[in-house]
Amino acid sequence: MLARRSSRIALTDARVDHAASCPQCMARLLALRQKHRRQRRMWIILGAIALLLLLAVAVTFILRYPFP
Ligand SMILES: [Zn+2]
Repeated sequence: MLARRSSRIALTDARVDHAASCPQCMARLLALRQKHRRQRRMWIILGAIALLLLLAVAVTFILRYPFP
């Protein structure tokens, strides 16, 4: 179920075969995956904050120097 979602190359990798059948490696793999997911979410949040800040700066400039 988990291996089906990975790429075709990874499916033929013996290490993935081992990780899928080894509880220890499987747990490590899942932990790594969750860490990556958390990091990705953090970058998305940071990006959204940066976008909002940029928007706020743009709005401030437009209000201060309105178009004629
Ligand atoms: Zn193992």
